Amino acid sequence: MSEASRATDATQGSVLVINSGSSSIKFQFVHPADGSTPASGLIERIGEPEGRIVFHHSGGDIERTLEIPDHRAGLKMLSDIVAEVGSPLDESGIIAVGHRIVHGGKVFYEPTLIDDEVVREIDRLSSLAPLHNPPNVLGLEVAREELPDVPHVGVFDTAFFHTLPAAAATYAIDRDVTREHDIRRYGFHGTSHEYVSGRAAAFLDRDPAELKQIVLHLGNGASASAIDGGTAIDTSMGLTPLEGLVMGTRSGDIDPGIVFHLRRSAGLHVDEIDNLLNRKSGLLGLSGVNDFRALRELVEKGDDDAKLAYDVYVHRLRRYIGAYLVELGGVDVVTFTGGVGENNVDVRRDSLAGLERLGIEVDAARNENGARGERRISSDGSSVEVLVIPTNEELAIARAAAKFV
Ligand code: ADP
Repeated sequence: MSEASRATDATQGSVLVINSGSSSIKFQFVHPADGSTPASGLIERIGEPEGRIVFHHSGGDIERTLEIPDHRAGLKMLSDIVAEVGSPLDESGIIAVGHRIVHGGKVFYEPTLIDDEVVREIDRLSSLAPLHNPPNVLGLEVAREELPDVPHVGVFDTAFFHTLPAAAATYAIDRDVTREHDIRRYGFHGTSHEYVSGRAAAFLDRDPAELKQIVLHLGNGASASAIDGGTAIDTSMGLTPLEGLVMGTRSGDIDPGIVFHLRRSAGLHVDEIDNLLNRKSGLLGLSGVNDFRALRELVEKGDDDAKLAYDVYVHRLRRYIGAYLVELGGVDVVTFTGGVGENNVDVRRDSLAGLERLGIEVDAARNENGARGERRISSDGSSVEVLVIPTNEELAIARAAAKFV
């Protein structure tokens, strides 16, 4: 069998999952039934003089450095590579395209078949997510041009949290202002929280309807959620992904008075404050590094700033865990996910340390044994299950999209 027909066979029946950002497009071909990924990769530095496209597949890795003027050109290059290793993109057996869309506002809370009107509505929501929805719309437009004959499905990061009770979703701000500007807590990372809480119930062989869960999604962005019987009742991100936990480069919760102070006393422009809180704060702002592995190295070398950054990170996490324990009226399962949650032994240990009286006990050996995949790290005597579940947002999106085929 030729290399070309093998590659085409591999993508046959897959869903192309697209995550389109301002200067990058991440893509993955996913088989919805078994989660296998015949190909994946990244188109990055779109619009810069030197862009890059990386394509992984069973035949090896392809990497090209060249100018990628815009998203349309990027997707065309992906299409060319797919044609080189198999057949043209529109003949490669893709059954649907699943798009990760950041903000669904109050309108979209289920996977939604994309048509022109839906694209316009997602674009209208850009005022709520100016950094995220416009590039999502671009991705939608160019992918629909490239693959006009398969269903395109939008899966929204906010969707899982549309169930938040009013008391959890409402900011205590003048009601006329919040109504006029659609200001409320929307939550993000919903696809991950939904997927991981579902997997946690399956891992425990329990009905999700019976479980009170706390999910801690700790990646570069980070969020916590409280889930009661499969329904989200609270989450740490709000109107935007800036609220909540300390993240790689985002501050998480701060006194909003700091913004006025920076404006009035430090004379910063609103865009500078936005940049400061979203891109230069969090672990990066406190320690100089945003990657948790680099932070750990600094801590081990005795760097005081890195130690403080770690302590602030864990302190905030414990505060949310405590809040959700009370909101839920007790918890059955606490699950860690995301790059940090799946891999960092210290964060898992320290965020739940000393909670034996609340029935939470992490087993040191299970936590530290370097295992991968879905696993339990609580001790046999712990009445609360503590799990590590690798997230897989692409699979969740692929499965949602495949339902429209
Ligand atoms: P994103 O939010 O960009 O999807 P990820 O979920 O990939 O982020 O998480 C990135 C974070 O996970 C980084 O801080 C990184 O240091 C951390 N991380 C990834 N792998 C490991 C590892 N093996 N050990 C410790 N930290 C890790």
